[in-house]
Amino acid sequence: MIDFEDQKQWARETQAVRGATERSGFDETNEAIFMTSGYVYKTAEEAEAAFKQKIDRFVYSRFGNPTVRMFERRLALLEGAEACRGLASGMAAVFAALACQLSAGQRLVAARAIFGSCHYICAELLPRFGIVVEFVDGADLDQWKKALSKPTHAVFLESPSNPGLEMIDLKAVCDLARKAGASVVVDNVFATPILQKPFAFGADVVVYSATKHIDGQGRCLGGAVLGTTAFITDKLTPFIRHTGPTLSAFNAWVLLKGLETLELRMQRHCESALTIAKALEKQKGITRLLYPWLASHPQHALAKSQMSAGGSVISFELAGGKDAAFRLLNRLKIIDISNNLGDAKSLICHPATTTHQRLTPEDRAHVGITDGFIRLSVGLENVNDLIGDLEQAFAS
Ligand SMILES: *Cc1c(COP(=O)(O)O)cnc(C)c1O
Repeated sequence: MIDFEDQKQWARETQAVRGATERSGFDETNEAIFMTSGYVYKTAEEAEAAFKQKIDRFVYSRFGNPTVRMFERRLALLEGAEACRGLASGMAAVFAALACQLSAGQRLVAARAIFGSCHYICAELLPRFGIVVEFVDGADLDQWKKALSKPTHAVFLESPSNPGLEMIDLKAVCDLARKAGASVVVDNVFATPILQKPFAFGADVVVYSATKHIDGQGRCLGGAVLGTTAFITDKLTPFIRHTGPTLSAFNAWVLLKGLETLELRMQRHCESALTIAKALEKQKGITRLLYPWLASHPQHALAKSQMSAGGSVISFELAGGKDAAFRLLNRLKIIDISNNLGDAKSLICHPATTTHQRLTPEDRAHVGITDGFIRLSVGLENVNDLIGDLEQAFAS
């Protein structure tokens, strides 16, 4: 049996490497991958007891799997959450976290600046099931106050946002939400459990696309939802048990190994991103440069009060619009053009024509995604090589 009370006292580095490890009878050093859909019972009576939940054991991998459980418990330790469920992707996590607790007629208030597919769920999918959704400008507390002056069931937000790096005052919004009776769901993908702890500011549920920094090496999709034991057991687990957005044991194993190096990788991501952001400050042709750890970021003070470093993503706008953006992307020799982020490889993308092309031009303009807007996910390569690559692309 794991002594979780003991493990909760461990420092984060120890939790990341050893937390929630369960060895099989073979005494393996490294965590095992349990690629099995089902489990066997010694007797028919045991099967009956398992299904009646009189005994606690694995019955079917849609409901639970030893490798997936190691990932869930280790991430819960790192986040300081009571419970966690791993899911097949970040979008499965976002959808499950909202759909498991919302019913027709209830209100959801969401920040406008959210990931493209999250926007689809809030703007198009949930309203089809009778959920009333209202969008607010995340940085404008007056809009949150107004929207949360009515009884509300849930709040959904992302901070920093993708790709505009907009910061939302987590404590202020969570306080308003509490008064409105709403549960706050925070998409913490950009900050990771290393840089920001939404629960400390009053959030009720934290969701991750583990595809990003938690894997961190571009290998597989995954997601996670964290919250109280009551929320995870009573609301989320029945929803995923019966709808099946299950995380595969293999992917859970990749993500579990990712957690071991997450903090080290985040340190390098953040150091390099800050160095590159400072280099870009001197670059001509950039009309807007956003990085939370630059003093010029409009919400720099808020970023510093909520996060412990600036993250891996820098966004900037080129004066020359789409043509200039495409020229810059096409000239890069090291940094790859890709819509993923949080990878060991530096990746760059043009949100207006890729990740956020589904939005109307008005919606894009509202969240600052102009035609010259670029998102750069800074990887783990040598920072001078990356600056050199950007400089040669700007120069030619
Ligand atoms: C990528 C991303 C998602 C979706 O995650 P997937 O693993 O691709 O499904 C959700 N939210 C944010 C902020 C993201 O960056």
